[in-house]
Amino acid sequence: MLPHTLVRIVRGTVDMKTQNETTLTVFYNDDYINPSDIETRTKAKPIAELIEQGVVPGVRLASPTMATREQLLQVHSEAYVDQIWGESDVLRGSILASTGGVLAAVNQAINDGASGSLSSGLHHAKHNRYDGFCYVNGLALAALHAIEFFSLQDVGILDLDAHCGGGTFELVGNHPQVRLSDVSVVGYDTWSSSDPRHFIKIVKSADQYLDEVKNSLEHLCGIDFLIYNAGMDPFEDGGGMRGITREILEERERLVAQWCIDTQTPAFFVLAGGYTSSKLDLDGLAKLHIPTIKEFRRILSSK
Ligand SMILES: [Zn+2]
Repeated sequence: MLPHTLVRIVRGTVDMKTQNETTLTVFYNDDYINPSDIETRTKAKPIAELIEQGVVPGVRLASPTMATREQLLQVHSEAYVDQIWGESDVLRGSILASTGGVLAAVNQAINDGASGSLSSGLHHAKHNRYDGFCYVNGLALAALHAIEFFSLQDVGILDLDAHCGGGTFELVGNHPQVRLSDVSVVGYDTWSSSDPRHFIKIVKSADQYLDEVKNSLEHLCGIDFLIYNAGMDPFEDGGGMRGITREILEERERLVAQWCIDTQTPAFFVLAGGYTSSKLDLDGLAKLHIPTIKEFRRILSSK
């Protein structure tokens, strides 16, 4: 069977299933949480509680199986995976559960058309090391998983975290079937490429932000599958850029979901960055991530 034929069949399945199935599956369990850690490994719990309270109708939580050592070795060196294995049980459990959730979300999105996982701390992780709160690069791993298990030809990673995804570029920037689109507001972990498969923009002011998000989506037209790193750390009251308001981030999520609907591209999200500050407590941060979930639910209900 030709890969393109398979892609059409996958899309056909998406259309058929979602006529009757409009529940968005979001992966999470309490193993994701490392209570003594930063928001990257604590905020999923209050977000899951909001989902359980029905803040977004039509969303269900599902518990993934933990990622395996073999899966981590697809993107990380043996020495580094050994290092992860040497971490505390709680931290290692958090890393493996949230990485398992990313892989489960790939399968679910290909089946349903959209899904998510409350995982974060992915895009800075390098082949041989931890970087910037990120241990395992679930974005690169998800792209390889989608290509290998579902024979997809062209997988896109949209990274709208405040920081650049240099780890993802290191791991899959040379892969001919992976397209990267990265809009950031600071140059941390930046990367550059002359390959037309890739798009990176570091915006200088908030009034450019949504236009560059539109450009980043346009760049991805033609992909078979979208992996979305939905960072909320561009938020002005969460240490991001002045002028990037809650409303701008809500509009950003609407643009991403509408692009998925218009192009009929299966997609899943992970949380990425988003931090508390003197103006934003953990509950406020959890609420900031809700529009991503609401909009991914809309992808299913629009079928
Ligand atoms: Zn970030």
